[in-house]
Amino acid sequence: MTQDKRDPRSIAAVKGTKDILPDEVGQWQAVEGVVRRIVELYGYRELRAPVIEPTELFEKGTGETSDIVIKEMYTFTDKGGRSITLRPEYTPSVVRAIIEHRLDLKPEPLRYYYVGPMFRYDKPQKGRYRQFHQLDVEVFGEKDAAIDAELVEMADRLLREVGVAETETLINSVGCRACRPGYLRVLREKAEAAEERLCEDCRRKTRTNPLRIFDCKLEGCREAAAGFPVVTDHLCAECSAHFSAFRAGLDAYGLAYRVEPRLVRGIDYYTKTTFEIVASGLGAQSAVLGGGRYDDLMKDYGGPDLCAIGFAMGMERLLAVAGVKPEKTPFVYLAYIGDEAKRAGMETARRLRAQGVECLLEYKDKGLKAQLGRASKLGAAWAVIIGEEEVRKGRFAVKSLADGAQHEAAPDDIVKIIRG
Ligand code: AMP
Repeated sequence: MTQDKRDPRSIAAVKGTKDILPDEVGQWQAVEGVVRRIVELYGYRELRAPVIEPTELFEKGTGETSDIVIKEMYTFTDKGGRSITLRPEYTPSVVRAIIEHRLDLKPEPLRYYYVGPMFRYDKPQKGRYRQFHQLDVEVFGEKDAAIDAELVEMADRLLREVGVAETETLINSVGCRACRPGYLRVLREKAEAAEERLCEDCRRKTRTNPLRIFDCKLEGCREAAAGFPVVTDHLCAECSAHFSAFRAGLDAYGLAYRVEPRLVRGIDYYTKTTFEIVASGLGAQSAVLGGGRYDDLMKDYGGPDLCAIGFAMGMERLLAVAGVKPEKTPFVYLAYIGDEAKRAGMETARRLRAQGVECLLEYKDKGLKAQLGRASKLGAAWAVIIGEEEVRKGRFAVKSLADGAQHEAAPDDIVKIIRG
């Protein structure tokens, strides 16, 4: 093996990725806890798929005209010569897993969720990373627009429960295979006529997928696109009825929303409903979640003809606006002097931990004063003090660091004192 000669101190995390350090993890766990509790209330169950997938899964699913596939995938050839990709999104993995394990033949509802890392080689900035985390939620086999509305209601509840105050829900319908081609023809004509006002990327999109022009953030393209025809004026009867039923469902829940006919989203497979929830306080990257229907994807992968809808929520963005704070578990610091006291401390910690009490002993050969100093600095709720005298008597000092009250107790009685 070749020896890496670089100074290890010079190695930093890969650009666009970051460590989630222990003092942040508490909030992650708190938010994830709420997220899991809420989605399980709606009947979703966790499905954990691998981080790596065959590249063609995304080429076929996410779509060859999507920015994700064109520019953003982390793809490599493994030692067996296979093209492998670090998943940039989760939906294709769920669809693959359903087909591979024939989950559609089971009686359980096809409702799945997952919280984990995704990878996109995007330009890093605030709210946009190369490794980021998503909550992904998918439901299959329900074509009634009531599920579209329920999904948005669930997303809304989730945001409320994690303490996100101000949000706006944007909705749209992007049509289906029956009505979209007609719309795309009209849109392409308009885009071609306005070509000199479009950026190079949007000129390419005019040929590959003109819908994507609406995603461009450049002022010139946005101005040009403002005059383009909108998809909602070209929906077939079925898509139009579905969109009305979706809106009626949201109205029945009393949820506010805005129809945004230019909300197309960056993935190829969407049909009918698309939606996005934006939160104030996030700056330029304000979309906290986005999703939609993808009624043809399962069938396109060679699976059963099952319609589907889902959304993905960006966990980093959710955490940036979440009000939920982690609960701090009170813990006991055991301070000891001398070898016998150390053994007694180790045994006492073992007993307390067996009863579910968090304990800390630091084996650093420090004096009692220094250990008690550490206990308060670290925010221990209690200090158990064991010196030679305490070992001899078999009774230890138990000190509340909140109010300074001191008790004396046999090892078995400590838990009663700290639990009040
Ligand atoms: P998408 O999978 O592109 O529909 O995105 C769904 C959600 O994931 C977005 O609304 C963001 O909250 C989040 N997201 C997407 N890309 C990134 C990224 N590069 N960094 C951080 N969050 C992201």
